[in-house]
Amino acid sequence: MSGELYRDTGVVLRTYKLRESDRIVVFHTAENGKVRAVAKGVRKTKSKFGARLEPMSHVRLLLYRGRELDIVSQAEAVEPLSPMLSSLDRASQGLAAIEAVDQLSLEREPNPQLYRMLVGVLRTIATTPSTLNVAAFYWKLLANEGMRPELDRCVRCGETEPETPLVAFDLNEGGVLCRSCRSGQAISPGALEVMREILGGRLVTALAREESPTTHEVASLATRALEFHIERRLKAVAMFETH
Ligand SMILES: [Zn+2]
Repeated sequence: MSGELYRDTGVVLRTYKLRESDRIVVFHTAENGKVRAVAKGVRKTKSKFGARLEPMSHVRLLLYRGRELDIVSQAEAVEPLSPMLSSLDRASQGLAAIEAVDQLSLEREPNPQLYRMLVGVLRTIATTPSTLNVAAFYWKLLANEGMRPELDRCVRCGETEPETPLVAFDLNEGGVLCRSCRSGQAISPGALEVMREILGGRLVTALAREESPTTHEVASLATRALEFHIERRLKAVAMFETH
């Protein structure tokens, strides 16, 4: 209902300029999914919001529900943003995480699991530097979207290791393939092992890995898989809307 005040907690995904001193802030919230709200006077030097509405900020909110845009009435930091901004690596990992969530979050469609995952990954990035933070997050996002890749048997013939080495990964097929069925791109045994760690409850082991060609392989595959999923989903939505 329009005009109603409500509380929620959210993470700022991005902001953009509205008028002279106002901004529109896009949140992924715990209870209301994606929310767009006007923060009045936020660009003034003495704004009541201070720096609490910057991308990656985790804030407790009091909002007025509007017809199109809500209005931020209060914003209070749940945790400080400063650790995220303490190194370029952390900041860029954090930005990659919120960008992915921005793509997956839907307006006013509650997705508390996505909220919990986002808060969790931002805390991990702030406290536990790892070259695989973002890649692991992407694979877990995909699994959460019902796109968990098959890593243990060939998606075409069903053969398993060690008798049949699994050597390829195909985004279209949603998993790994053996030598005779291979399509998509090659995957190294090391990268496959790291992906099994990430998706098989051994995340800590995966995150402790040193940066290497293997971690790069996992990271680039994660990015491609997420892009592939988002593109397919956007197309599906577009098709749905024209029919
Ligand atoms: Zn096969």
